Amino acid sequence: MKRIEKRVQVVSSHLSPPVHFRQASMTTSEKDAALTAVPSDSPTIFDKIINKEIPSTVVFEDDKVLAFRDIAPQAPTHILVIPKVRDGLTGLSKAEERHCEILGRLLYTAKLVAKQEGLDDGFRIVINDGPSGCQSVYHIHVHVIGGRQMNWPPG
Ligand code: 5GP
Repeated sequence: MKRIEKRVQVVSSHLSPPVHFRQASMTTSEKDAALTAVPSDSPTIFDKIINKEIPSTVVFEDDKVLAFRDIAPQAPTHILVIPKVRDGLTGLSKAEERHCEILGRLLYTAKLVAKQEGLDDGFRIVINDGPSGCQSVYHIHVHVIGGRQMNWPPG
């Protein structure tokens, strides 16, 4: 798709967003999930995705990270990038200096995935942390969200 066509698509998606991408419904369900989730070190649904015990649409994988499509996308492109080994990183607030390499790799993978998805006009990276940050799965993950115009401030 030509750059100008892509831009028109992004702008029009901003003017008339599909119902399932609307901010209000997204905020409610995400918030409910986050407030229900109990921060813990227990295995999460992402372990099952890593071990291929439940299906996911994988868009990138190497020995350290996995990137797959979010089951409840908040935009035309919504991908989660996670470390294959959690190593205590239930969330960003648990990061220690030894995690610097994997944290960098998660962000670099997010950039690779955005490129692969053709998000040449830009995209948003989100890391929710803790109940107030609306985190619902306690295995650190980077959201890569794009394909429509983002708003600021976020909800
Ligand atoms: P958080 O709210 O913790 O920042 O993000 C967790 C994300 O994981 C949510 O966007 C949610 O839709 C996604 N998610 C939860 N369970 C599954 C699942 O089983 N498969 C996939 N692909 N995504 C999931």
